[in-house]
Amino acid sequence: MYDNPLVDQFGRNITYLRLSVTDRCDLRCTYCMAEQMTFLPKREVLSLEELERLAGAFIDRGIRKIRITGGEPLVRRDIMTLMGRLGRRLQTGDFDELTLTTNGTQLRHHADVLAALGVKRINVSLDTLDDAKFEKLTRRNRLSQVLRGLDAAQNAGLHIKINTVALKDVNEDEIPAMIEWAHGRGMDLTLIEVMPLGEIDEDRTDQYLPLTAVQDALQKQWTLKPMDKSTGGPARYLKVEETGGVMGMITPLTNNFCAGCNRVRVTCAGEIFMCLGHGDKIDLRAAMRGPDPDEVLNAMLDRAMLKKPERHSFDISEKGQAPAVPRHMSVTGG
Ligand code: SAM
Ligand code: SF4
Repeated sequence: MYDNPLVDQFGRNITYLRLSVTDRCDLRCTYCMAEQMTFLPKREVLSLEELERLAGAFIDRGIRKIRITGGEPLVRRDIMTLMGRLGRRLQTGDFDELTLTTNGTQLRHHADVLAALGVKRINVSLDTLDDAKFEKLTRRNRLSQVLRGLDAAQNAGLHIKINTVALKDVNEDEIPAMIEWAHGRGMDLTLIEVMPLGEIDEDRTDQYLPLTAVQDALQKQWTLKPMDKSTGGPARYLKVEETGGVMGMITPLTNNFCAGCNRVRVTCAGEIFMCLGHGDKIDLRAAMRGPDPDEVLNAMLDRAMLKKPERHSFDISEKGQAPAVPRHMSVTGG
């Protein structure tokens, strides 16, 4: 169907784009950001028109799924204008899925519009249901806003997957209750191992909780049945027989998932990262701001395919070591 689909040097078809629309956020999750962050100056951030053009270049090369992320995508001013434009291309069948990863604080304002645009499912990140813990973990007191956002999204008919980072001594004891809560509301829940991305104010070895240990503990109380459901990403899925719901496990550190990778990430400054676990990137913004943007952009996407590495190289084994990848997750998006 496409003259020139995106295929990397290992024969993997790249059909999934994660596009970050801002590096800013209204929360400060301790595993993601430091309290004092230096954000990009506005001129370095792609305009909505540039983001649309970029997404269009990927769609023309066979990308079928676009996830909008950040930072917090819903704090970007006029983000719904971009969503609306992408939604129109979704509705004409130019690609298959438009989705979003959000912390949920602004969701109550946008859920209905997202559903009307053709967004079917979204990921909402939530690590605790306890007000005090939420405030400690995100450095902001916004749990009730997130919960109202979830209600609005479900009322609008959006399917929700909760993403929960498993954190030693923080939400470890709450994980079974969160799974029951999510499944009881008809939401999936995916647990994520903390990844060594960017300098933060704490030591990540103190936060790291291997999901193998979490799974062992859950198996003592529940029957977990592996599911044959692959998204080309790092998650493995398990059916919890007792709750009837689906639980995902994202285990970049205990389980390598790279062979089936189908994705690339673009930051809000227009840098394409071929792998979350590598620093290698190509600047697409310069292409877009120069002459012949479409042609140069296409050539750069070809170059990116040649540079996509075979696998990531995360390591969290040594206490006190520098992060494996110096950029924060909020730069490339989750
Ligand atoms: N602000 C939005 C949110 O929180 O959903 C979107 C961006 S956030 C960077 C995307 C996901 O990355 C969230 O689920 C968050 O919990 C996760 N995340 C951030 N830093 C991480 C880290 N160092 N290790 C593992 N997951 C991380
Ligand atoms: Fe913001 Fe998401 Fe990072 Fe939390 S995880 S600080 S909500 S970007």
